[in-house]
Order: sequence, then C-alpha cells, then structure tokens
Amino acid sequence: MKKLYFILALLFVPMMFFGCSSKDVMQKVSENCDYYKITASLNTQEKTLVATEEFYWTNKTGDTLSSVLFHLHPNAFKEGAKTNYAVSQTQENRAYNGEKDFGGITINSVYCNENSLNFNILGEDEHLLEVELNEAILPKKSTVLKIEFSLDIPKVNHRFGYGANTINLGNFYPILSVYENGEWNRQGYLSSGDPFYSKVANYEVSLSYSDDYLLKSTGNLVTENTQNGQKTSVYSALAVRDFAMVLSKDFKEISQQVDETLVTYSYYEDENPEAHLKTAVDSLNTFNELFGVYPYKTLCVVKTNFLHGGMEYPNLVYVSDQITNESEYNNVIVHEIAHQWWYGLVGNNELKYGFIDEGLAEYSTALFYEMNDGYKTTKEEVIGNALSSYMLFCDVFKEVYGELNSQMNRDIQTFNTETEYIYLTYVKGLLMFDSIENTIGQNKMLKCLKGIVSDYAFCEITPKEMIECFEKYSKRNLQSFITSWLDGSVILEEIKE
Ligand SMILES: [Zn+2]
Repeated sequence: MKKLYFILALLFVPMMFFGCSSKDVMQKVSENCDYYKITASLNTQEKTLVATEEFYWTNKTGDTLSSVLFHLHPNAFKEGAKTNYAVSQTQENRAYNGEKDFGGITINSVYCNENSLNFNILGEDEHLLEVELNEAILPKKSTVLKIEFSLDIPKVNHRFGYGANTINLGNFYPILSVYENGEWNRQGYLSSGDPFYSKVANYEVSLSYSDDYLLKSTGNLVTENTQNGQKTSVYSALAVRDFAMVLSKDFKEISQQVDETLVTYSYYEDENPEAHLKTAVDSLNTFNELFGVYPYKTLCVVKTNFLHGGMEYPNLVYVSDQITNESEYNNVIVHEIAHQWWYGLVGNNELKYGFIDEGLAEYSTALFYEMNDGYKTTKEEVIGNALSSYMLFCDVFKEVYGELNSQMNRDIQTFNTETEYIYLTYVKGLLMFDSIENTIGQNKMLKCLKGIVSDYAFCEITPKEMIECFEKYSKRNLQSFITSWLDGSVILEEIKE
C-alpha cells in the first residue's frame, strides 16, 4: 500500500514534454514528415482493393540516391512465400480455420511527375519494391512518387486478411524502408514477432467501400459521404508510424472522451463491452500520467478475427476474438495501448530490438495493475509468474536443445522458435525493466521512462541510446548492469541439486 500511495502522489505532478505539450511537438515534427496520400477502393464482396499511393518524399538520408525502396508486406501472404511467410505451421489452425487461402500485392505502375518509372520487385518472397528514379535525388531534395497497386486480401485471421467478421487492413500498402548506415533496410516479414520498422509520416487515406460496413482507422475522420450504396471515408493522421484499418458489417461501438482523445471500443460479440471500454480508458489515463500525454485525438480498440492476442497500430489496436479468458482479454488491451508509447511514439527496429517495445509494454502492463484496482491481479503476481515461467522455460529449452542463448540483443532471425523469442523478448524484457526499477527505485524509473518519451517521441531508439537515457535520468551508472541483462550474463535459473 505504501508504494501505491507513493505513485498516486506522482499523479498530481503536471506532465510536460520538452517544456511544451506533446501535441505541439507532434505538430512541429509533422512539418518535416514524409506524406502518404492513398486513394483506395475496396470491393467487400471480392475482397480486393485497388489504390493509388502518392508519396511525398524528402531525401533525408544524407546520400544521393538513384532508387527508393519500399516494403511490400502483403506478399507475406502469397502462396509459396518461404522465409517471409506470415503464418508458421503451429499457427495454421488459428489462422485458417482449416481452409488455406492466399493473397498479396501487385504493383501496376509507378510514376514521377507523370513520367513512368522502372521498378523491380525484389527478394525471395517478392517483399520489396525498388523504384528506379529517372534522375538521382540529392540530399534534402523532394519528389513525389505515384504508385498504383492492387491487393488480393486472403481469408486468414491475420494483420492483413479477412475472417468471419472483419476485414483487417494492417500493413496493406507499400511503406518506405528505413535507410541507415548507407543502405536500405531489406528485412522482410516473419511469422514471429512484429517484423516492422518504419519512421513516422503524415497520411491522408480515402477509402471507398460498401456502406453496410463500419470502418475503424488510424487517424481522424475528415469527411464521409455515401452515394449509391458506396461510402467514402477520408482519414488523416499526423506523425504516425503506420496506418491501418479494420472493417466489419457487425461492428457495434461505445466510446468515451478522455481529455482530448476519443477512446472507442468496437466489437461484434461482447457480453460486457462497458468493462472493456473501461480497461482502455484506464490504460490511457494511467499511461498519460506515467509517460506523457498521448498526443492523438483518437484511440480505437477493435475486436477482430486475429490469430494472436492483439496487435498495435498507431491509434488503433486489434484484440483477438479467439481470447476466451476475461483477464487475458483485458491484459491484451492494456499491453497494446502501452505500445502507443513503446512502438508508436518511441519507435525501435522491432526486427533487431524487440525487447525494447515488448519488454516496456509488458512492464507498463505490470505498472498498470499496481495503479488500478479491480483487475484481479497485482504487479507482484505478474512479476512472480514471469520469473517462474521464465525459469521453467530455461529448463525445458535446455532439455530439448541442450543449450540456451539467453542474449536478448540479437536479430529476430537468430531465434530458433517463436517460444524462445517470446520468452527472451517479452518475459525477460519485463524482468529486466523490473530489475532496473528495483535497482534505482520506482521514482527514478518513472523519471527515466518519461525522459525516454520526451527525448525520443516520434523518433527511434537503440539499446545504446536507451541505456544512455536510463543513466541520464537516474543519474546512476547502469551501463554494465543493463548490458549484463542484454548479453545473457544475468542468469535467472535455479541451482539444480
Ligand atoms: Zn506487444
């Protein structure tokens, strides 16, 4: 109880972001962002989509470039995709309900100022689009690329796909790859983890679709009109890392205003939607206080046909309808909303450093239980369960594979199984952040997390920068302590007799 009073006292300390509001920062950041203008038409019968993407791009790479690279995430759902295929064998039942289906993206043409450009579809699984520029582009110069594409949406309960109730349009459009250290990031989709890495950008997305569907989306609704049974909705978003949409004929929804953000819960079957809206509202209130105010006007929690527990997108989170346990359902809502700070505001390369956003989302969820009664669990229980299940995992893993590489700071492709990835990223990540809290105290821990958000909001953080932030805001030398967690020299195993 002492700890609880202590945190409640912190609630009354006003939150500041660089000395001005997070919304002001967002506005300023958005002035230098690239801009995607997507005009799309969805055929809800055929589950196909045709679109034009105008991409207003300024070359901020520092290099003169003759080509631009985009990820084609929908091709992870193509028949025959190998390394980058979205569904692993163990997930097939939950993904397909027994009937395999495939889809993907076709690039029809690319233009720049009405001139047609050559383009190449690259990668073993056609997961990259390379656009050849007619003239090399100098640093700081801008251009507009127009990409015409079409989608075949697969019947699969996934980020991109449709199921019995929803059409999920996550990762549906060509998105710019990140250019670092003189090269474009070429890593493709994987069936485990969240295999994404992108920078914040501005969006305007216009979608036409059958008017018996309800659409939930990243961003704010700008206009909506209906003609001859077709609805056209235009959404805009500033300084977001990605743009996703979900449609359903069956959606019902309830919402609640939290300061400047409208929180909406959309569902098709739910015996207690008010309780789930309350979880979302409590999450937003808690994390606003702990980490800095969420700067966006909307936050949609959407129940979807989805094989995993949940998925975070800017302003929009999926929660799986396959979850039958009430506390697990709430847990996913809290975890995905925590990602609005850890992934959304403070980005990271999730293919290399998944422990940052997943570890922090799990740790934030534990903090949530400490600050909110009525969720039938406590932070101590969460940490205790994580520690015992991690130790059990180590035992079982060693029995099966002989040796466990408990290094967290490594490429997602070096993990042998999804279970290994989950334990070293989510569970060990949670234990690491909790152990930092135990070392520096909760007061300083929260100061560090607020500091990370204020220094890295709308940017991406690396492990080195994260450690520097912890040292800066705690005024403690934590380099070797945190590194020993990341490189696997902290051993969390029981001594066997
Ligand atoms: Zn997560």
